[in-house]
Amino acid sequence: SWVDLGPYLHDMIDRHEIIAKEKDIHFIRKITKHATFVEIDQDKLTQVIDNILSNAMKYSPEGGDVTITLLHQGHNVRVSISDQGMGIPKESQTKIFDRFYRVDKARARSVGGTGLGLAIAKELVHAHGGEIWVESKYKVGTTIYFTLPYSTFKGEEA
Ligand code: ATP
Ligand code: MG
Repeated sequence: SWVDLGPYLHDMIDRHEIIAKEKDIHFIRKITKHATFVEIDQDKLTQVIDNILSNAMKYSPEGGDVTITLLHQGHNVRVSISDQGMGIPKESQTKIFDRFYRVDKARARSVGGTGLGLAIAKELVHAHGGEIWVESKYKVGTTIYFTLPYSTFKGEEA
């Protein structure tokens, strides 16, 4: 179905505010006000963004900022979610999208998870012709980016 990503992202972030407050995490929203329609399975997209947002909170210390950005970039929309958490060592950055991969198993055990979230995100984004990638600096923070091809002519064809 058609989803307008701006309002959709605001709703998703709203639903995470209670959990964020418990960890004193502040969401910073840099979300374009322009209509940003993508044709996508909304439940699956919810699963993807749920996981990326949960990761940003799970792997961050108390008091951090999590910044959610939505912008238009040519024929794509780009979503990014940035945290000020523990970061991901360079040698692990290509592996986090693999099924069941978790950085530092001993440390990860204390934080719940199966290592599937980003593998599912990658599948969905690729199935829609988008890309997903990470930029991260160990002990500084992590940004997950993904793109989706967008269309502005929702229901406006002649
Ligand atoms: P699941 O999402 O299945 O509950 P998970 O969060 O461990 O479990 P993924 O979401 O696929 O699995 O993430 C894979 C691994 O990448 C995580 O275990 C963690 O080590 C690392 N990781 C993911 N996001 C971040 C982040 N924002 N900061 C630091 N490390 C991260
Ligand atoms: Mg996860």
